[in-house]
Amino acid sequence: MNSYDDFLKNFPDLVAYKNYPMATHTTFNVGGNCDLAVFPKSAVTLKKIIDHLKGNFPYCVIGNGSNVLCSDKGFRGVCIFTKHLTKITLRSNILEAECGAKLSDILKVSVDSNLSGLEFTVGIPATIGGLVAMNGGCFNKNIGDLVCYVKAENGVYNNLQCDFNYRQSRFLEGEIILAVGLKLKVSEEDIIAQKIKRFKDARGKSQPSGKSCGSVFLNQGYFAGKVIDKAGLKGYRLGGCYVSEKHANFIINDGGKAEDIYNLIKFIKETVLNTQGIALTEEVRYIGEF
Ligand SMILES: Cc1cc2nc3c(=O)[nH]c(=O)nc-3n(C[C@H](O)[C@H](O)[C@H](O)COP(=O)(O)OP(=O)(O)OC[C@H]3O[C@@H](n4cnc5c(N)ncnc54)[C@H](O)[C@@H]3O)c2cc1C
Repeated sequence: MNSYDDFLKNFPDLVAYKNYPMATHTTFNVGGNCDLAVFPKSAVTLKKIIDHLKGNFPYCVIGNGSNVLCSDKGFRGVCIFTKHLTKITLRSNILEAECGAKLSDILKVSVDSNLSGLEFTVGIPATIGGLVAMNGGCFNKNIGDLVCYVKAENGVYNNLQCDFNYRQSRFLEGEIILAVGLKLKVSEEDIIAQKIKRFKDARGKSQPSGKSCGSVFLNQGYFAGKVIDKAGLKGYRLGGCYVSEKHANFIINDGGKAEDIYNLIKFIKETVLNTQGIALTEEVRYIGEF
């Protein structure tokens, strides 16, 4: 297969666009165009797409784009957007969600069925595929703790086989998640509602508004936000972006480009290393060339 047209011939019904802007699909709202964007509507099509792309074209996957920094130069290859894979089903206390289902929708389904466990995710603007790949979480809870199984491109994995660690899973190596099974606990409506309110209030106190990717750096034996604050960088501005005054681990895009954000990340790393001897590591995932 040597052209995108050849590839697309295998998928007559696939929603696909050439030279497609990625910026609007990311919460930083920056980034150039990918060569081809595809929007599968079923897990079967997604799997078939991967099988056709493998070994033929570079490709990447974007859920809600809330933890990615896409290059201004775009991505030379195919970007798979999972936003149409949103089916959520319940079997007793096991909730299965397709990879593109949003956490807000999944949380709503679980609340409506008096199922507890996902309350801590309130306010995380993620798809379940992205959250599980990142093993995202907050308030000392991670999504991996709830994962019963993951249906991925190469098979079904139980929790242990997912290799969950702090902001790590086997899926960050490139294997795409098709659907996730979460094990929840039966609880009472009031208790669930109280927990959600508590997590929502706590998030409201610490989380800045504006275009961001959440925490830019990992907390590895230190809180990256505190370390950046100690380096005097709260409010530091570079081009069209700045370090949040409210939470120093957040970079806010205020009309800038991906290059501004990238340069600010580099500057923060250099400053923190030079002043405190700490080598910060990015949590944000880069897409394209920087
Ligand atoms: C305001 C704000 C608050 C946030 N708060 C938190 C928080 O409290 N805790 C936290 O952990 N994170 C937080 N984040 C970061 C982000 O929401 C999480 O990292 C989330 O897991 C990303 O999900 P996504 O669907 O947006 O993934 P994307 O950003 O689209 O992708 C993230 C990574 O996952 C990969 N990926 C996406 N879908 C799949 C799939 N189906 N299979 C395999 N890999 C996939 C991508 O290729 C990429 O490497 C926050 C972000 C914002 C903007």
